[in-house]
Amino acid sequence: MELSRRQFFHTTTALAAGTTIPPAAGDLSGEQAGAPKIKRYKPLGKTGWKVGDISAGSGQSDPSILNHIFECGINLIDTGYQYTGHEELIGKVLPKWREKVFVVDKWDPPLLTPTVTKSALLEALDVSLKRLNTTYIDCMMLHSIGHPRYGGIERIQNPAIYEAWDEAKTLGKIRFTGASSHSVNLIREIEWGIDNNRFEVILVGANFLTQGLEPLLKKARARGVATIAMKTMTIYQSRLNIRALQNQNTNARQAVIKWILASDLFDTMVVRMPNFDQVAEYLAVSGSTSLTPRDEEYLDVLESAISTKYCRPGCDSCYGSCPREVPIWDILRYKMYYENYGDQKYAMERYQRIPEPNTAAACAGCSAPCSTACRYHIPVRERLLEAHSQLTFARP
Ligand code: SF4
Ligand code: SF4
Repeated sequence: MELSRRQFFHTTTALAAGTTIPPAAGDLSGEQAGAPKIKRYKPLGKTGWKVGDISAGSGQSDPSILNHIFECGINLIDTGYQYTGHEELIGKVLPKWREKVFVVDKWDPPLLTPTVTKSALLEALDVSLKRLNTTYIDCMMLHSIGHPRYGGIERIQNPAIYEAWDEAKTLGKIRFTGASSHSVNLIREIEWGIDNNRFEVILVGANFLTQGLEPLLKKARARGVATIAMKTMTIYQSRLNIRALQNQNTNARQAVIKWILASDLFDTMVVRMPNFDQVAEYLAVSGSTSLTPRDEEYLDVLESAISTKYCRPGCDSCYGSCPREVPIWDILRYKMYYENYGDQKYAMERYQRIPEPNTAAACAGCSAPCSTACRYHIPVRERLLEAHSQLTFARP
């Protein structure tokens, strides 16, 4: 049974329908000047580590931001070969922080095939170690499992993966193993890994709009598997006027973060932190364990503004509904990168990788069975056509 956001939290306070949003109350710079730090550390599953309740994702372009992140007490960072240049950037500062920071890295889906060999995986690991300027990675993950475009569960059942992990552990090149997922088969494939004792850490797409992940997360925690949330921030630069949704204490983005912190289903969460202001803004709510009525109000407004636009990580409701095999969830995610994250180039490059017959060009004139299948009432066809016109600049 799925739980709605309101059912899920016992701490929430019901708000009357039609509540108006308070007016804007100035800039955040005063709060940022205080350089907030991590206020709460939690065990990372059974790894023996205690990590800050908020951790760093990618997005930095300068080593000084990484140094600042670690000086603020963040001690876990998520990276990967696929985040162009991010491993190398971390490598510039990592020697200084090596024993204090838990590094999560990943093997990419194109590498992870049912036939990839142990030596190919170990070779990729060595490339990442070199880029990171280190002799070991704290957790090596299988990236983006549950993604049908790259194949089925047989990809992660390839024994070569586990032989490579065992050998890398023996050689001291990795300490823990795990997987990340935000795609349609998230639950099925992450659960397989937990049931078969393959994953010590999981990194899953989750936020206040996702549903259905709670049983999986509870199972993971019961077995001592570390749980990390990603794709937490649905609204980075959305057209929604965040300024109009903030007061002197918290703003709407912080409420989104507090939702994860208050859920207590995650040991930590990774958030994209491209600049000093965002580090300060997010860390200002570290240590939160509940939502205030104001936070609930923000989430209600956000939900009503984006619920029928936002394709949820881990949702499989429309899977199989498209006769042309358009990867709906991928294209809508790239659209989010383009619109909300401001990562236009990355979004366009990703879209360009989709084979031409499966792009959203196929949606023109279609009767859109996908829209009927979407449990969140997203007008899928219209959103895909919008995405196609936004993302096709890079297509030759
Ligand atoms: S509009 Fe038609 S072609 Fe496009 S994703 Fe939906 S079902 Fe597929
Ligand atoms: S379009 Fe709707 S049904 Fe399809 S994956 Fe996204 S949220 Fe789920």
